Amino acid sequence: MYGLMQPRPLTIAHILERAEALFAHKQVATAGVERLTYADVIAHARRLATVLDSLKVPSGARVATFASNSRRHLEIYLAVPATKRVLHTINIRLSADHLEYIVDHAEDDVVFVDRGLLARIWPSVDRLSRVRHWVVLPDGSDTALPADPRILGYDELIAGAVPFTGSFEDTFALADENLASGLCYTSGTTGPPKGVLYSHRSTVLHCLGTLAAGLIGLAESDVVMPIVPFFHANAWGLPYGALMAGASLVLPGSSAEPAHLSRLMEAERVTVAGAVPTVWTSLVPELRRHDLSAVRFLLGGGSAVPPALSETYRAALGVPITHSWGMTEVSPVGVIGGTRTQHREATALERVAVRAAQGQPLPLVNLRTVDVETGRELPRDGSAVGELQVAGPWVAGGYFRVDADDSFTDDGWLRTGDLATLDGDGYLRLVDRMKDLIKSGGEWISSVELEAVIASHPDVVEVAVIGRPDPRWAERPVAYVVLRDGSAVTAEELVRHITPMVARWWLPDEVVFMATLPRTGTGKLSKSALRDSVRST
Ligand code: ADP
Repeated sequence: MYGLMQPRPLTIAHILERAEALFAHKQVATAGVERLTYADVIAHARRLATVLDSLKVPSGARVATFASNSRRHLEIYLAVPATKRVLHTINIRLSADHLEYIVDHAEDDVVFVDRGLLARIWPSVDRLSRVRHWVVLPDGSDTALPADPRILGYDELIAGAVPFTGSFEDTFALADENLASGLCYTSGTTGPPKGVLYSHRSTVLHCLGTLAAGLIGLAESDVVMPIVPFFHANAWGLPYGALMAGASLVLPGSSAEPAHLSRLMEAERVTVAGAVPTVWTSLVPELRRHDLSAVRFLLGGGSAVPPALSETYRAALGVPITHSWGMTEVSPVGVIGGTRTQHREATALERVAVRAAQGQPLPLVNLRTVDVETGRELPRDGSAVGELQVAGPWVAGGYFRVDADDSFTDDGWLRTGDLATLDGDGYLRLVDRMKDLIKSGGEWISSVELEAVIASHPDVVEVAVIGRPDPRWAERPVAYVVLRDGSAVTAEELVRHITPMVARWWLPDEVVFMATLPRTGTGKLSKSALRDSVRST
C-alpha cells in the first residue's frame, strides 16, 4: 500500500520562490562594496530567465560560469536551474588544457565570465567554438574587452530584459525533480576531469541535510560567508542553504586576501563561514586584529583540518573549525564533525581528538569501509582501516558522459579512494587518501597524522608530508614545512618535537623548509606537485 501524500517535486525553483516570498528584505553583500536584497537578486534572476530564452539557450543546455563569489554569480546560480538549464561552475584556476577539456566535454552553450577573469579564458576561445555567447560580469575591474560579437554585457542584458513573472516552481512536473541542475568537474588528479551531474532533487536534499539543526544548522539569524568558491563543489551548499534558511549572505568577490576576508567578516558581523584549511591558516594572523565575536560556526573541509589549527581558532574566538568531509561526488557534504553529549565528561584532550575526526554522516548518507584487497566490509571498531565507500540520495551514481566507471561498486556505492576507520558511534576518521599513504618497509604511515603532529609545533604554519621513493624501504616520509615569519626552528628541533608523539620509523627522513607550498585549483595543498618535484630532482 502506498502513502497518500502530495507528489510534489523537489526543486531549486522552490528555494528561489521561498526566499522571494519570505525573505525579500534579507541582504546579499558583495566584497563590502555592493549591497542588494534577496528581492533585488531574484528580480535580476527573473530577468535573466528571459535573457536565456532570447539567447535561445535550450532547456537542458549547459550554462557555465567562470567567476568569483558575487551577487551576479548568485543570480545565475538561481536563474539557470530554475529555468531547467544546467549550471556548470568552472574552476577559475584550471590549466588551459583542463579548461578547454571540460568546456568542450560539457558542451557549454554560454559562459558567464568575470570581466577581470576574461583574459584567463579568452586565449582558449578559438578552441571553444561551441560556446555561442560570452557574457561579461562587471567585477570592478576595467580590463579591456576584445571586440568580438560573441561578447555581451551582463548588466546591459538584464537592463533590457522583461522579467519572467510566473511561478518557476509550477513549471516543474513531479518527474522533473530528477532533471539535471548543476555540473561540476572533479579536479582530475588521475586521468581527465570527470563531471558530476547534480539533480534538483539531490541538491534540495543536500541542502536540507546541511540545514539540519545540530549539523551546520543555518538559521534566518545567520550571516553566511562562503569563502569557498561557488565553483568548488557548489560552495558546499552554502548559497542555496542560506537562501532556504533566509540567512543573509556575504560574498567575498574576487579577492582572497586574508586582510580583505577578515575585514568583511568583522564589518558584516558574519556568523557562519566555510573555507579550506589553507584559507583558515592564512587568516590566523588576522584573528587578533579584528572583532570576530559574531562568529558562531566555522566550517573546514576539502582536506584534513589540523587539530592545532582548529584549537587556535577555539582559543581566539571560542569557536573551533568544524570538520567536514566531502567530495564533489557527494554534493559535496557527507560528514560533519563535532562532539556529542557523551563527550561532555571527556577530558579537554579527548574532546580535541573527537573534533579532529571528520565526524558523523549526515542524515540519509550511508558510509562503510571495506578491505582494500578482499572488498569485504570492515567492522566499525574505530581501528580497522579500509577504503571508505558512500551511498545516499546526493551521492553521484555515475559521471557525465562516461559509460561505466570503476568508481562505483556493483551494489551502487561510490568508492572514495580515501582510507578511513568508522567507530561504533558512526564517527569517520580519515587516515589518508589511498594515493597519499606512505608505504615504508611494508608498513603504512599516514601522511595526514604525521602532518597533524608536525603542525602542532607553534612555529609551523603549514606542512605537507609525502613519500619519497627509497631503494631500501620503498618509500620514506619527507616533510615540507612553512614556518612562521622570523622563526629560527631547525629540522632537528622539529623532529625532536614530534619524537614523543609518533613511532620512530614515522620520523621524516628530511624536513624541507619552503616559503609557500604548491596548491591545487581549489586551494588545497598539492601533493602531486611536491611528488613531481621530488621525482625531477
Ligand atoms: P579533489 O579530489 O579534486 O580535490 P574534491 O574537492 O571532491 O576533489 O575532494 C575530495 C577529497 O578531498 C576527498 O576524497 C578527501 O580525500 C579529501 N577531503 C575532503 N574533506 C576532507 C576532510 N575533512 N579531511 C580530510 N580529507 C578531506
